[in-house]
Amino acid sequence: MALERTLSIIKPDAVAKNVIGQIYARFEQAGLKIVAAKMKQLSRQEAEGFYAVHSERPFFKALVDFMISGPVMISALEGENAVLAHRDLMGATNPKEAAPGTIRADFAESIDANAVHGSDAVDTAKVEIAYFFAATEVCPR
Ligand code: UDP
Repeated sequence: MALERTLSIIKPDAVAKNVIGQIYARFEQAGLKIVAAKMKQLSRQEAEGFYAVHSERPFFKALVDFMISGPVMISALEGENAVLAHRDLMGATNPKEAAPGTIRADFAESIDANAVHGSDAVDTAKVEIAYFFAATEVCPR
């Protein structure tokens, strides 16, 4: 087991549904601690930079448009195997394929509006956390 950190984004669709607390409760029940958090309206430039890895994909513009359609709740989570633990809570990218009881199965409507983002590896998590949080804004506990 390894103590890890991962980046969570509660996307505009889930913020609009007013389920931030319900999603946070799932993190806490799984033993993940919130060590940094901010609500933010992303600029187009911020969203494009965050998803730069997908810039050549056909869904890139729609993804960026969606991510700036309303505020997002950005958090860094810490816990044992946090990256995988968080992805297990999220469920598959396409909510129609997400396992029952996962965040995407319960709160997401479509592959475009799929409620949450989570880092896919420890290295990616470091980059993604630093993208949104200064070192002084992360509070280990
Ligand atoms: N996405 C999309 N259409 C697709 C594939 C992905 O709109 O066909 C969006 C979706 O919001 C997804 C994000 O692009 O969450 C990033 O894709 P990735 O494959 O990294 O999925 P994730 O790690 O979010 O499950």
